[in-house]
Amino acid sequence: MDFDSNFGPELGQLEHNARFNGELPPCMLSKTYDCLDCCLSEPIGECPVKADTDYQSYLRVTKESFNLQAKIRVLKITHLQNVLRKHKLPLHWEYISTLAIKEAPNLFPSKDSVKGLVFNNPDIFIQIRDGVFALKKY
Ligand SMILES: [Zn+2]
Repeated sequence: MDFDSNFGPELGQLEHNARFNGELPPCMLSKTYDCLDCCLSEPIGECPVKADTDYQSYLRVTKESFNLQAKIRVLKITHLQNVLRKHKLPLHWEYISTLAIKEAPNLFPSKDSVKGLVFNNPDIFIQIRDGVFALKKY
């Protein structure tokens, strides 16, 4: 299905919101919403989403996929926290990766998948020296 032909940038934004923020346009959340604000409809009030149930389904599936990804992310982070808890000492991220992949190969497809999580969550993992991480809270 090609949804981009008529409402390119607007629907692109709505899709982006569903995919990366887990957000649906207001008119999909409320039966009475008049759609004036849900996208840059031209003419005003003619919301492309409200009129298109296929596109609504598409956005819903996209949002579900976001929710699933978010859950998997939490699961991964919990797993990495447990690796560090078990060892009680700071570990280099590559060693964390090796242990995590050994324990849960389905959750961690590669070392890089661990690297990103460890480096990009400074509220959970603190880098105490080059590439070596400890937990902020044990
Ligand atoms: Zn709308």
